[in-house]
Amino acid sequence: CGIVGYVGRTNDGTALDVVMEGLARLEYRGYDSAGVALLDGDHVETRKKSGKLANLTAELEADPLPTSTTGIGHTRWATHGGPTDENAHPHRGGKDGKLALIHNGIIENFHSLKKGLLAEGVDFTSETDTEVVAHLLAEAYDREHDLTAAMRAVVADLEGAFTLLAIHADQPDVVVGARRNSPLVVGLGDDANYLGSDVAAFIGHTRQALELAQDQIVTITPAGATVINFDGTPAEGKAYEVTWDAAA
Ligand code: GLU
Repeated sequence: CGIVGYVGRTNDGTALDVVMEGLARLEYRGYDSAGVALLDGDHVETRKKSGKLANLTAELEADPLPTSTTGIGHTRWATHGGPTDENAHPHRGGKDGKLALIHNGIIENFHSLKKGLLAEGVDFTSETDTEVVAHLLAEAYDREHDLTAAMRAVVADLEGAFTLLAIHADQPDVVVGARRNSPLVVGLGDDANYLGSDVAAFIGHTRQALELAQDQIVTITPAGATVINFDGTPAEGKAYEVTWDAAA
C-alpha cells in the first residue's frame, strides 16, 4: 500500500532512516503490516511486523539492522493472506536469501504461477500473491545476472495491477522498480535517489521528482535513474519539482 526505496553512497544508517521516515509519511494511506529490507554484504536482511509502524520500530530496537547504502520499505494492505508477520513484505526469493521484494496491488495469475514453482520444489513461507514474484525474480536473476533484465523478464508473465521494488545482494547499490496500473514516483537527490508510491515517501529529502508512465521499469543507483518500457525500449521520465508543502 505504501512503498519506499532508497540508494545512497554512504553506509551510515541513512538507508534505514530514510525508509522508516518514508513509511511514516505514507501512514495516512492505511495499512495492516510494515516491513523493511536492507542490503548487508552478501545477503539481504529483513524485519517485518503486522500492525502499526510502532510494532516494526520496536522489532528494530529488539533486533537492529546493520547500516546499509540500499533499502526498501513497505506498508501492506492485505489482499491475499491475512495480516500476519509472515505475510508482511518484504518477501525473499532464491535459496540464498539474496533477493527482497515489496509489492502494491494484486497479481491476478499468481495461482497458476505458484503451481509451477511448487512443482519445481520451491518452498513458500507466506500465503501472498507477492511471494510468487519474489521466487520468479530470483530465478530470472540467476539467468540474467542483472536485476533490471530479470524484472523485465518477470513482468512479462504477470497479470494484474502492481508496483514492485526489488534489491539483490549480488548487485549492490541498485533498487529496481516496476509499475503497471499502480503508482510509482522517482525522487532525485545528490548522491542518493529514491522511489515512492507517492512523493510523500521522499519529500523530506528532495523535491526533484521524475514521473513514470505505466508499464515502465526504473533502476536507481546513487548516480541516477534509468527508465525503460516493459518491451525493453529506452524511456525518459518526466522531470518536475514537487511544489506542495509536505509539512501541511
Ligand atoms: N497483494 C499483496 C498482499 O496481499 C499486496 C497488498 C498491498 O498492496 O499492500 O500482500
